[in-house]
Amino acid sequence: MANLLVDERDQQFVLNEMLEVEKLCEKPLYGDFSKDMFDMVLTEAQKLAVQQIFPILVQCDREGCRLENGQVYVPSCMRSVYKLFCGGGWNTMSFPPEIGGQGLPLTIRTSSHEWFAHNFAFMSYPGTGEGAAHLIEVFGTEEQKAKYMGKMIAGEWGGSMVLTEPGAGSDVGNLSTRATRQPDGSYRIQGNKIFITAGDHDLVENIVHPVLARIEGHPAGTKGISIFLVPKYLVNDDGSLGRRNDFEIAKIEEKMGIHGSATCAMNFGDNGACYAELLGEEMEGMKIMFQLMNEARIGVGLQGIASASIAYLHAVQYARERLQGSSLMDLKNPEAPRVPIIQHPDVRRMLLWMKSNTESMRAMIYYCAHLFDLAHTAENAQDREKWLGITEVLTPIVKAYCSDIGFRVTELAIQVYGGYGYCSEYPVEQFMRDEKIASLYEGANGIQALDLVGRKLGMHKGAHFMNFLGEMNRTVTKVKGTAALKDLAEDVERGVGALADMAMFFAKCGKEGRFLVPLAHAYPFLMMMGKVVSGWLLLWQAGIAAEKLDGDGDGSADAAFYKGKVAGARFFIKNVLPEIDGAVRAIKSEDLSVMEIPDGGFAA
Ligand SMILES: Cc1cc2nc3c(=O)[nH]c(=O)nc-3n(C[C@H](O)[C@H](O)[C@H](O)COP(=O)(O)OP(=O)(O)OC[C@H]3O[C@@H](n4cnc5c(N)ncnc54)[C@H](O)[C@@H]3O)c2cc1C
Repeated sequence: MANLLVDERDQQFVLNEMLEVEKLCEKPLYGDFSKDMFDMVLTEAQKLAVQQIFPILVQCDREGCRLENGQVYVPSCMRSVYKLFCGGGWNTMSFPPEIGGQGLPLTIRTSSHEWFAHNFAFMSYPGTGEGAAHLIEVFGTEEQKAKYMGKMIAGEWGGSMVLTEPGAGSDVGNLSTRATRQPDGSYRIQGNKIFITAGDHDLVENIVHPVLARIEGHPAGTKGISIFLVPKYLVNDDGSLGRRNDFEIAKIEEKMGIHGSATCAMNFGDNGACYAELLGEEMEGMKIMFQLMNEARIGVGLQGIASASIAYLHAVQYARERLQGSSLMDLKNPEAPRVPIIQHPDVRRMLLWMKSNTESMRAMIYYCAHLFDLAHTAENAQDREKWLGITEVLTPIVKAYCSDIGFRVTELAIQVYGGYGYCSEYPVEQFMRDEKIASLYEGANGIQALDLVGRKLGMHKGAHFMNFLGEMNRTVTKVKGTAALKDLAEDVERGVGALADMAMFFAKCGKEGRFLVPLAHAYPFLMMMGKVVSGWLLLWQAGIAAEKLDGDGDGSADAAFYKGKVAGARFFIKNVLPEIDGAVRAIKSEDLSVMEIPDGGFAA
């Protein structure tokens, strides 16, 4: 294995053989690109990751961030890598060329970023800058764009995403930060925010914070929230930096992982002079922030796959090298030679579970990104709506399923390493610590499940959900024609049917006033849907692999890869997918113990 970050053969397989991403180059929007250019971008991404971003992973963890005299300092090793990253335009890959980006399809941006996302502490800085710049690009006035975007795109200024308060975490609408209109059209902000990623750092000279606050007199709840740009240093008319804005970093959180990412508590306007500019219109804050949050949710899913990928590849390498025990065939012979643990059935089970989940999540996230590209290049509104509609349904699954399964893959890597995996001398425990945050931020996974069940299933009268199932069934019909995979196709077909059935069941519960049933079972449903989507994607891949094996036979240089694809799909569909039967039974029992148990019944 050339690197232990991303299986580049699998990446190429998903992009070229599965999604046929080069077809995007036939569309006017991406007409300036070619497959060779996409390959070149990915090769450069790999180089940057292997030579720069991975080598600082441990130091980012060990050194962490520090707050001195009101300024946050990030691990020193990040500095040169950040310059290379932004200098190479990796922070603006999908921005339009007119504003300094490269205009690449989101699929290429996403697959490139998979190389980097294992070091999420580092990526949190260019990532927050990119997200905030994109908000200004879409919602900013011409004046705001001229003032902020050039420097942000160059990576000279950063960004963030400032929502959370002590009393407003999942319940963002409960925030108490206030904004007051000023005669000159600007605003003054006052309030305390917590848990702000990249709330301050020394990689850039200025940071433009998008901050959620309520303008005095506006209604309670999410409806009354507006969004503001709050720069660390005010920007003069000539573009030079003016006074330091009136907010301070109260502390940096001590966390279990991503130590190199500064998670800041911020106090705004203690002196009544925190300058802010409205972004968009008043009371549009949540709508605007949702754009950033949806992008961020896919980014968090990407963190899940990158963590899974690095953990899986390390586990495979370790299992090939670690000698322990003898072969099953030699169990009774104490003199038998010791074998690599990859020969033991239980270790193979763990590795195949990790492989099939890692590869299905990679396919899921690239597919999601590809849907955006299909929507952006669609020739009519109907197609555009169809592709975007499927992303609506898929986004909470990408966020929650990939972060939770990504975490479980990292945990299983520790199991493959045995006791060594638990020790910080070996790398896998950091992968698990770093990954855990992904199930919490950008909307905790329980909230994603409520979004899926409460909003997304019924969105557009259920059409988006049904279109998604339709795409899955198309694959099923096709793969059923391959005799060796017919049983797998039928299993996936049953899974897709179970999703449709469950959606109708939830709708019926809602109509009949038993709305607690879908709400209490939302998370198991999300995980069930994640498994069906995974099974479908692996079936799709197995269909392609079987065709290739048929054509080239065992002599193909890729035979082991394609056989691995078929084996991974078969393992997942036969061993993991059946778990949905248990979920269906549990959900349909309409058991509401979770609501019936008295609060005092949980513990004395
Ligand atoms: C390292 C880190 C970085 C972060 N970065 C940022 C950032 O850059 N910007 C920012 O604004 N925030 C950030 N956050 C905050 C993060 O988004 C919140 O922690 C998260 O939204 C959850 O809020 P909370 O911690 O208050 O938990 P709570 O909202 O108290 O939730 C606790 C638990 O209760 C559940 N829960 C809460 N309400 C409901 C409900 N109505 N129905 C069902 N279940 C519910 C949740 O799912 C969760 O399991 C960050 C947090 C961390 C730890």
